Parts: sequence; C-alpha cells; structure tokens
Amino acid sequence: MLNVEKRDRLKLPHIPIEKRPPQERLRDFCEVSLTYTPEQAIAEASRCVECAKPPCVKACPLHNTIKDWLVLTAEGRFLEAAHLSQTTSNMPEVCGRICPQDRLCEDACIVGVKHPPVAIGAIEKFINEYAFAEEGLPLPAVAAPTGHRVAVVGSGPAGLACADELVRRGHHVTVYEASPKPGGLLRYGIPGFKLEKSVVDRRTEYLERLGVELVCETRVGVDVTLDELLDGGFHAVYLATGATVPKRPSLPGMHLDAIEDALPFLIRNNTEEGEPEDDLTGLRVVVLGGGDTAMDCLRTARRLGAASVTCVYRRDEANMPGSRREVQAAKDEGVVFEWLRAPVRFLDNGAGGVRGIEVIHMELGEPDEEGRRKPVPIEGSNFEIDADLVIQAFGFDGSPVPASDGPKVTKWGTYTVNDDGMTTIPGVFAGGDAVRGADLVTTALVDGRAAAAAIDRYLRANTQGA
Ligand SMILES: Cc1cc2nc3c(=O)[nH]c(=O)nc-3n(C[C@H](O)[C@H](O)[C@H](O)COP(=O)(O)OP(=O)(O)OC[C@H]3O[C@@H](n4cnc5c(N)ncnc54)[C@H](O)[C@@H]3O)c2cc1C
Repeated sequence: MLNVEKRDRLKLPHIPIEKRPPQERLRDFCEVSLTYTPEQAIAEASRCVECAKPPCVKACPLHNTIKDWLVLTAEGRFLEAAHLSQTTSNMPEVCGRICPQDRLCEDACIVGVKHPPVAIGAIEKFINEYAFAEEGLPLPAVAAPTGHRVAVVGSGPAGLACADELVRRGHHVTVYEASPKPGGLLRYGIPGFKLEKSVVDRRTEYLERLGVELVCETRVGVDVTLDELLDGGFHAVYLATGATVPKRPSLPGMHLDAIEDALPFLIRNNTEEGEPEDDLTGLRVVVLGGGDTAMDCLRTARRLGAASVTCVYRRDEANMPGSRREVQAAKDEGVVFEWLRAPVRFLDNGAGGVRGIEVIHMELGEPDEEGRRKPVPIEGSNFEIDADLVIQAFGFDGSPVPASDGPKVTKWGTYTVNDDGMTTIPGVFAGGDAVRGADLVTTALVDGRAAAAAIDRYLRANTQGA
C-alpha cells in the first residue's frame, strides 16, 4: 500500500487505464482497454479515501463492497480483493469491463468531485484477471443435493447468475438457450472490443464444471413448450429471455434496402472467429440512436472500413443514454456526432435502396416524467445526410417465450412479476431484460441472484425434493 494519510490521498495522481491507440484498434475486434499492472492497481486503489458510507457501494446495483476491495488492492492483497468482489457478483470480470461505471460507482465516487474518480472498473478487472491467472476459477462450496430441478430459459447474465446461485444451493439446474452458444448478449450483442468472447467462454465453462446443465440450440416455446417443462419434472422455471425485439419508429421509406436493425448487424460482424461478414469499405454509414447499442454499431462500422460513420441522436450529448466513455471512444475512432437531430424520412436512391435520410433539428424543451428534457422539432430546419447504409438502434422490447397461455406480458413484451420476481404463473419466475426491458448487465445479475433466492424459498415451501 502507498503509505499515505487519508487527507493526502487526493493529491495522489490518477493512473488512467491505457487504451490501444485508435489506428491500431480499428484493425481488429480485440479489447481496447488494457489491464493495470500490479503497481498501477495499487497506486490507483490507494486514491480511495475510504468513505464511512461509501456512495460507490450505494450507486452499484449489486452493492458490491467496492471500498473494501479497493483497500485490499491498495495493500497488494489482490487475491483477497478478487474473492471479496466475487461474493456479490457472479461475473465481476465482465462488470469491470463493461459496466457504465461513469454513470454508477465512479460517478458517485467522492474523489471525483474535484479530481478524476478512482478507476473502480479497471481495478475490478485487474483483481479478477490476477486471480484468474493465479488460480483459474475455483469451484465454490455447493450444498447437498435437494432433489429439486429448475429450468432456466436464456443464458444471458440474468439466467447464468440465477443458475450459478441455485446450483450452489443444491438444486439441479438446466439452462435452455436458443442460440448455438451460451452467454446471451455478452456473446451475441456486445462487441469483442468491449468484451472478448474468451471471457464469456471461461465463465460458462466454470458454470458447467459447477454442475449447470447447458442445453443450447433449444428455443423454449418452439422446441419444447413451457408446459412441457413444468409437466416434465421441473419444479420451477426462470425466464431470462432478454429484450431483443427492435423498436422501430414508423418513418416513410423504411422499406428501402440497406436500412437494418442494430442487433443482426452486430451479430454478423462480431463473430466468435473474429471474422466479420460485412465489408463496408467506402460506404457512408449512419446510425440512428444514442445508447450503448448505437455506440457499438458505430464503432463496428468503423472497423469494417466505412468511409464515414455518423451518429444521429435527437437529444444533446449531455442528455444521451449511453455511457460517456463509449461516446469518447467512438469520437476517438473517428465517428461524427449529429446531436439534436431526429430522422424524418429515408431517401430513395431510385433503385430500391437508401441514399440518405432527411433529418430535422431539435431543441430541448420541458423535462418529461423521468426528468429528461424532451426534444422538440424546430419547424423548417430539415436537411439531408447522405448514407449508403442506415442502422436503426432505437432500443428493444421484451422477447418473451412464445406461448398462447404463458405468463402475462406488458405491451412492451416484458413479463409482469410480483415482488418475488414470480410471473402470473405459480413457480414461473422472470428477470433481467425480460422484465426491465433493455437495461444493463449489472441489473440482470441483480435480478438473477434475487430470483435464485426467491426460487429457493418457493421450492422449500411448495415442493418436496425428488
Ligand atoms: C449491443 C449491446 C450492447 C450493450 N452494451 C452493454 C454494456 O456495455 N454494458 C452493460 O451493462 N450492458 C450492455 N448492454 C445490455 C446488456 O447486454 C443486457 O442488459 C443484458 O445482457 C441482459 O441480460 P439478460 O440475461 O436479461 O438477457 P440477454 O443477455 O439478452 O440473454 C437472453 C438469452 O435468452 C435467450 N432466449 C431468448 N428467448 C429464448 C427462448 N424462447 N428459449 C431459449 N432461449 C431464449 C437468448 O438467445 C439470449 O441468449 C448491451 C446490449 C446490447 C444489445
């Protein structure tokens, strides 16, 4: 530990995490951020002023005991720090990489009032990579088998966290996944430059070693019904099917070729093998939207050789939903931002394709019910932006299991649940994006963990083990 009095810690220099330079990183889909060295991690963690009631812990949806593992890191006790971080999170190595810390823990960090906040995410990544290099992912203690069987539908962070917690409690868990491999959006949505696939692989391999049964390429509601699961020996079901149905505003010209949704574009081009399918060399690409998905599309398009990549977003930079860090990364990689612009119609190139979009200038009006200032069009301010490819990233609705008499869903396709996360069908629970709508990895983990505790209570109260 750097032997520095608490009051002097604010004078310690911040150690920014090193990033690969844009010209280098645009040539591949590998992670952009490097990992701290032990010396850097100690120096950065030593900047923590050890608040009595740490606001970083409160701001973290998982309430990770951040201060405690920062102190351990500052003392060079990396393994202990990693173990502590693993007690509240089922994948801290993932959260360290892709949580929007600048909107959560780091935004709340007291040091950040006058100085750069402590780089909590980079330290979380470091301690967990350190632990992985030292000891792999050792298996935790598992309770004696209860004889209860639970089906988890969907292998994103919500489903995997729930499975992890249930198996530790002695229940047998089978995870059904529609895609060829487990991981949900961690594997099939979030690009490798934020989270490499090998990180997802080692987490799912660990879960299999722990005893989670993974059944991929099986879509519940199609290959096996929810009723068949309930009648076929499962005592409870957890629906963690995510929210991946694209929202699309109805705009003139939306039938034209070369207008597509964000997720298929990302899946095609962020492949396991690192071999993208599209070649956008010379094309002008416009991405509509301002969230994390839009940022990932913009940065993917830059890696595919597009001549220009433009983000069109209806609010200003300060009011966009995505992480500031991601916006900065996109800017560093040459993305152009058109703030306060909303699409009006897609323009026809005369051959069935798109040649651009007409947009209108917006200004921010009164705050809406969530307190965000509403964008209002400025009459007569329309202009055109040329484009050979337009990608729509307006967000997602829920993607519930196809079932005519399944649990109740809202008009946004998300499940209705009670305080225990149970749907309108007894014994069928739901969580993650499937309930919240498109949200975050960390909130999906919160839900998966809470569901495991609720399912455990339900099983003990309502069923006898086999
Ligand atoms: C492009 C993109 C970038 C993102 N970037 C970030 C980020 O940087 N940081 C962050 O915190 N969050 C990010 N998110 C959000 C985050 O990925 C999600 O909030 C999180 O993955 C939700 O977890 P989940 O387990 O609820 O659902 P998902 O990860 O969506 O997993 C759902 C799984 O269920 C499967 N499934 C669905 N229906 C069925 C069925 N009927 N039968 C069997 N399987 C089924 C799906 O195939 C999928 O594997 C991003 C999202 C996107 C789309």
